[in-house]
Amino acid sequence: MPDYKEVVDVVESLGRRSLVIGEVLGYPLYVVHINNNAQNMVLLSGGIHGDEIAGVYSALKFMREKASSYDANFLVFPCMNPTGFVKGKLENYAGENLNRLWGQNCAYPEIRYVENFLSSVPRSYAFTFGMHETDPFYEDHPEWGGTGFPTEPWLYEQQEEVSKRIGHLMVDELPQGTPVCDWPTIYDDINLHGVISYPEGCMNPVYLEGTTFEGFLPTFGFTKHAFTTETPKGWELEKRVNVHLSFLDSALRHLIN
Ligand SMILES: [Zn+2]
Repeated sequence: MPDYKEVVDVVESLGRRSLVIGEVLGYPLYVVHINNNAQNMVLLSGGIHGDEIAGVYSALKFMREKASSYDANFLVFPCMNPTGFVKGKLENYAGENLNRLWGQNCAYPEIRYVENFLSSVPRSYAFTFGMHETDPFYEDHPEWGGTGFPTEPWLYEQQEEVSKRIGHLMVDELPQGTPVCDWPTIYDDINLHGVISYPEGCMNPVYLEGTTFEGFLPTFGFTKHAFTTETPKGWELEKRVNVHLSFLDSALRHLIN
């Protein structure tokens, strides 16, 4: 099982840039503010689904090695579901899927702390970027359309203005030879060569409710451009981390610089 100490050690090494916004069963919930004296702020998040660990390790690696080289400031939630992370579970300690409960004054501490924090700081992000994973062995559920689980990466891009979309560039710029999921639909949403474009590609009734973190952020005016990236847990961790960080690097180069 992953050890939360890995998160604590990296975040604490960043010194005063990190802030504990609350505790969940004794685990500190962190936000990290990386200030590069830039005009734009980007919101990065990982680990809302506790078993999708590549997002957490991508956030840690990004903060440690890469964040200072971009002309953007970052607000990073490296591990949004610590109790799921340490148990290798998608849900939190109470068995709840935390990514279906946003914008509804939900009482779970992971959501309360983050919503309260976000409402206390300026609410304008050039883009938001949430990192997820998929497991080919997830138990199937009607919410996911019953078509099974991809074994290759893909991403969601929410941007109303078609001319501002860059999802296909992000796929094109993946490390050479990286396949993406080419299914016509993923969890009922319309997929084109690894990119699901919202709002019009959203056909999944659960995602249409906008209660995921990445749905909540644009709905509540935090951003006009939201990404969710997905990697397959069947791949080795380093390769999954590289996919998330390649997608993020593309987004930063196309949207910020
Ligand atoms: Zn997920």
